[in-house]
Amino acid sequence: MPQAPSKQPLYIRMHPDDNVAIIVNDGGLPPGTDFPGEFVLSGHIPQGHKMALRTLKEGEPIVRYGVTIGYAHCGIPQGSWVEESLVRMPAARDLDGLPTCLQVGGRAEPLEGYTFEGYRNADGTVGTRNILAITTTVQCVAGVVEHAVKRIKAELLPAHPNVDDVIALEHTYGCGVAIDAPDAEIPIRTLRNISLNPNFGGQAMVVSLGCEKLQPSRLLPEGTLTASTGSCTVCLQHEQHVGFESMIAAIMEMAAQNLAVLGQRRRVTCPASDLVVGLQCGGSDAFSGVTANPAVGFATDLLVRAGASVLFSETTEVRDAIDQLTSRAATPAVAADLIREMAWYDRYLEKGGVDRSANTTPGNKKGGLVNIVEKAMGSIVKSGTGPISGVLGPGEKLKAKGLIYAATPASDFICGTLQLAAGMNLHVFTTGRGTPYGLAAVPVLKVATRSELARRWHDLMDVNAGTIATGEATIADVGWEIFHLLLAVASGKKTWAEHWKLHNALTLFNPAPVT
Ligand code: CA
Repeated sequence: MPQAPSKQPLYIRMHPDDNVAIIVNDGGLPPGTDFPGEFVLSGHIPQGHKMALRTLKEGEPIVRYGVTIGYAHCGIPQGSWVEESLVRMPAARDLDGLPTCLQVGGRAEPLEGYTFEGYRNADGTVGTRNILAITTTVQCVAGVVEHAVKRIKAELLPAHPNVDDVIALEHTYGCGVAIDAPDAEIPIRTLRNISLNPNFGGQAMVVSLGCEKLQPSRLLPEGTLTASTGSCTVCLQHEQHVGFESMIAAIMEMAAQNLAVLGQRRRVTCPASDLVVGLQCGGSDAFSGVTANPAVGFATDLLVRAGASVLFSETTEVRDAIDQLTSRAATPAVAADLIREMAWYDRYLEKGGVDRSANTTPGNKKGGLVNIVEKAMGSIVKSGTGPISGVLGPGEKLKAKGLIYAATPASDFICGTLQLAAGMNLHVFTTGRGTPYGLAAVPVLKVATRSELARRWHDLMDVNAGTIATGEATIADVGWEIFHLLLAVASGKKTWAEHWKLHNALTLFNPAPVT
């Protein structure tokens, strides 16, 4: 378990141009705290919150990460708390005239020799778990499928020690929706592509009601599944089913056939390039961008050098850094795709009468983040430093390796669901406030931004990046730790969320109307 940090007052400045810095110490620092040769604190400043490194005049830019995160509402004396009410948020960066493809020069040196033990699929993808998934076309069947899953686990699964789990892909889509609306493509392709996630071995089976709008043939057109076992659909309204037990028996029979195939599979040695790692954060605080996200960014660079795919997401949390992202685009086409996704999301928010500032939560603010600009600067650090080689729309499936921007809302459940559709086989989740987040389909490795959280939630957090703030570890130390732990988890080591079986619901992104 991590040790308590020293009592010495500490602050962290992220960039030489910054005129604010955050307080490191647990519980914050009291008035009168002396930073010898610099200044004395005029009042209490909570942990993770900002203090003025010099006196700021009214209207002056407040700079963190070398970026203007806001403007001073009034004069702010040196050594005092730069709290939310003192910071006026800047406008969003215009999407015209952005710098593009500035990251020239040779590719980073390849990282070779790293492997993991995974389940290779017929389509070339690799599973990190061996799971039987039951796809559903509509919420109406959820109760029946849940009942069937309980019985499959109790009666069939014990005979297949190589199969990790049986899960139902439940959701609230499928009927009562404008299924031909242009944006309905997003929830439909999300469900389709989740069924094809590498952890399901191409063996997905479908339970349908019968009268729903999302018919099985529309969800999974013929030939979509790579390892077909003949009929793979049970339709509850089919006349062959007389009574509930008949439906359950049909689902169990189909599950038995699929389990027989999945049960034959064995882990084989695979290069690290077969990893598809989805990144996101939830319950962020001011340390997210100082400890956990930079360490994850270091691991991202290692993974990309090893030939793996890394997905970063959360559109409202990268929107304010769009100029940094277009600068890192590998090609003009990638830059154009990034701008297209930002513009689409700007319009989506505008339709709802809000903008990107609707993102921040009370917990973010309590943790020291004054606005979405500051949150975004800490969030994009997860993407490391390399070129961005591709962009996926919400729910699209991965087409190429490398660092990919997978456009998703920042909502933890929706982001995770869309990254599952993209084909991730590992998920990294950083948190400062703390969340017990988990997914049934893919292992989730959770990284704490602060040692205090890692100590308190010692059996929920997999990695403590808080040691970076106190100087006990470097970003590289924790980055390598995450990289090695990812290879171990990919090979079967359980994360804490798996240990406790903590699973959040699949949550579809449906920007189209319901009827
Ligand atoms: Ca999130």
